[in-house]
Amino acid sequence: MNLIDGKKISNDIRSEIKNQVQKIKQKTGKTPGLATILVGQDPASQVYIKSKIKACQDAGIQSFHHNLNEKTPKEEIINLIKNLNTPSEVDGILLQLPLPNNKYAQDCINTISPLKDVDGLHPFNAGLLNLSKSWDEIIKKNILVSCTPLGVIYLLNKSNISIEGKTAIVLGRSNLVGKPLSMLLLANNATVIMSHSKTKNLKSLCKTADIVIAAIGKPKFVTKDFIKEGATVIDVGINRTSDGLCGDVDFESAKDMDINITPVPGGVGPMTITVLLENTLKAFKNRI
Ligand code: NAP
Repeated sequence: MNLIDGKKISNDIRSEIKNQVQKIKQKTGKTPGLATILVGQDPASQVYIKSKIKACQDAGIQSFHHNLNEKTPKEEIINLIKNLNTPSEVDGILLQLPLPNNKYAQDCINTISPLKDVDGLHPFNAGLLNLSKSWDEIIKKNILVSCTPLGVIYLLNKSNISIEGKTAIVLGRSNLVGKPLSMLLLANNATVIMSHSKTKNLKSLCKTADIVIAAIGKPKFVTKDFIKEGATVIDVGINRTSDGLCGDVDFESAKDMDINITPVPGGVGPMTITVLLENTLKAFKNRI
């Protein structure tokens, strides 16, 4: 088993971001800024927001945090977002999900200026990703892509795991992870199987794949019986159980296999925040 060290890869990219932020500041006197919005007091969301603000500070990115009461009406969240769309010191707007009432999350996201949509969830940016013909195009056009999926591609690239021509299966089809990840793999010339809760013969499909990516939110669902020898397994899942944090992959069951695998924690998790910083820098560069 070869561990893909998300923490190390993430730290290397964050140092590079910090350098770039410093250099631009010296040259222009300007720094990128990220506005975060947390509605309610969900403990996991509070932890994520704290980590995002700290990561901004460490990278020299300004952060502007807005904490809203859990009963805040949709209109008030939308008004706040509209107000944040204007000031130039705010390059990115991140609305922490899920909202206490998640039914209107997409309406709120649709209000974020596509230029400041550092989570890549606005239909404009999701559309640009879907219309892209290649990875080069995604990079050259500075498209704002959803953070976790882009982080997964960086993990593969930085670990020298080639994607082109490989069969990749993505478990999960959410707008946040599964769908954009499938598009990114396709842009990198993988043959992609998109799977979901109604997929039949999931185990045997996974067994055919060179790259297995689990993003379903089911603790230890993917056991060694899903994985072929020599495969790469990326575990996006973050599940809080009575035994602590675990992924969607049964890591222990696969420990004697000849595979590349991301641990939980320390795999995909740190990359999500790293790409958020990178997207904020990208939005800043698009502006100045
Ligand atoms: P989500 O919106 O709940 O979507 C889950 C997806 O999994 C759905 O598409 C669902 O299929 C599919 N699914 C559920 N059971 C399945 C099964 N037995 N077989 C195949 N597919 C199944 O979740 P999400 O937001 O994408 O997040 C997925 C996981 O990633 C969660 O554990 C979340 O905490 C984690 N996550 C981690 C990070 C990170 O930074 N590491 C970031 C985001 C999310 P249907 O569409 O058919 O219902």
